[in-house]
Amino acid sequence: MENSTEKRIYLSSPTMHGEEQRFVAEAFDTNWVAPLGPNVNNFETELAQYTGCGHAAALSSGTAAIHLGLKLLGVQEGDVVFVSSLTFSASCNPIVYEKAVPVLIDSEPDTWNMSPVALERAFEKYPSPKAVVIVHLYGTPAKMDEIMQICAAHNVPILEDAAESLGSTYGGKHTGTFGRIGIYSFNGNKIITTSGGGMMVSREEALVKEARLLSTQARDPARHYQHSRIGYNYRMSNVDAGIGRGQLMHLDEHVRLKKAIYRRYQEAFADIEEIVMNPLNPGGDANNWLSCMTIREGCKVTPDMVMDALEAENIESRPIWKPMHLQPVFAACDFINHNDGRMSVSEDIFVRGMCLPSDIKNTDADMDRVIGIVRGLFQR
Ligand SMILES: *Cc1c(COP(=O)(O)O)cnc(C)c1O
Repeated sequence: MENSTEKRIYLSSPTMHGEEQRFVAEAFDTNWVAPLGPNVNNFETELAQYTGCGHAAALSSGTAAIHLGLKLLGVQEGDVVFVSSLTFSASCNPIVYEKAVPVLIDSEPDTWNMSPVALERAFEKYPSPKAVVIVHLYGTPAKMDEIMQICAAHNVPILEDAAESLGSTYGGKHTGTFGRIGIYSFNGNKIITTSGGGMMVSREEALVKEARLLSTQARDPARHYQHSRIGYNYRMSNVDAGIGRGQLMHLDEHVRLKKAIYRRYQEAFADIEEIVMNPLNPGGDANNWLSCMTIREGCKVTPDMVMDALEAENIESRPIWKPMHLQPVFAACDFINHNDGRMSVSEDIFVRGMCLPSDIKNTDADMDRVIGIVRGLFQR
C-alpha cells in the first residue's frame, strides 16, 4: 500500500504554462472582465489561423457551440438529426434542446467513429435528416472521405463535433473544418482548456456572425434594447479567452506529449496479446487526447478489474463513453447498427474498453507505475 500515499495520477487534467496568466492579467489591468474584449477577438483569430477553419466564435462551452450550430443549420422541432452513438452526451443533448429527434448511428471498428455503413442504412430509413453530427472520438479522425461523400449525396450538412480532437488532422486538414459547422471544447480535461469554453467555427462568415449575435442575447442593431429573436447568454468571457490564448501557444506541445503517451502504452503492451490499443486512422494524424485499450474477448481480465487495480494505487482511469443508445434518457431513440443482428460495434467497444491515464504531466516513473500495474494483471 506504500504507493497509495503517492500523488494521484490523473486521466487528463489542465496543464498551465504562464502565458495564460499574462493574458488574464492584461484583461484585469485593462478592466476587460466581460464577455467581450481583445482576448476574445484574438483567441478567435488565433484559433482560426491554427486550424484554417475560416471564422470562429468563442462561446461558453462546446455544448453551447453544438446548440447554436444546430440552430444555424435550421434544426427545428420534429426534425431528424443523425449523431454518433459512441460519444459524450453533450453531442446529443442539444438536439433534444430543440425538440428534434436524434437517430443514433453505430461506430465502425477501424476508428471507433461513425460507421459509413450504418450511416447509409440510416439514410435508407430516414431519407431527409436535417443534419449529421460527427464525432472524432478520443482524437482519432473519423472516415471523413466516405462520410462527406454520403452526406453530400443526400445534400445534408455536417456538424463536426471536434471537442476531443483539436489538433488532429485528416488528409492534412484539421478536424472541425470539414463540416459546414465545426465545434471545439476547452473544458478542463480537453487537450487545451479555458477552464470552461468552446468555439463554433465555419468557412461561412455569416454563420459565425450569427452565432456571435445569438450568443449575446440576439440584440438588434438599435440604440435601445430591441430583440426580434430569442437569444442566449453563450459568449466566452474575456478572462477565459486569455487562458485560451496562452494554452493555444502550447497546443502543438500538448499533442506531441499525448502522442508520446500513446506510443509508450503501445510499446509497453505490444507483447500482451489480450490488449489492443484504440485505433488510429491511417488517413489522418490523431492528437491522441486519451489513450484507450480494449481487452480481447475471452480474456479473464475485465476493464473493471484494470480500473479497480489502478484506483487502488490512486491512479485515475475511466470507462469508454457509454453509447447513447444504451442510455436511459435516449432509450426511445432509434439506433442504426453497423452489424447485422449481432452486438453493435459501439457496445462491444464499451464493454471491452477503457481509457488509460493520459495526463501530459505524468512522468516516466508515473507511466512505469501504470504500465506495471496493467501488465501485472495480464501475467498471472
Ligand atoms: C467535452 C465534449 C463536448 C462538450 O463540450 P463542453 O465544453 O464540455 O460543453 C461535446 N462533445 C464531446 C465529444 C465532448 O467530449
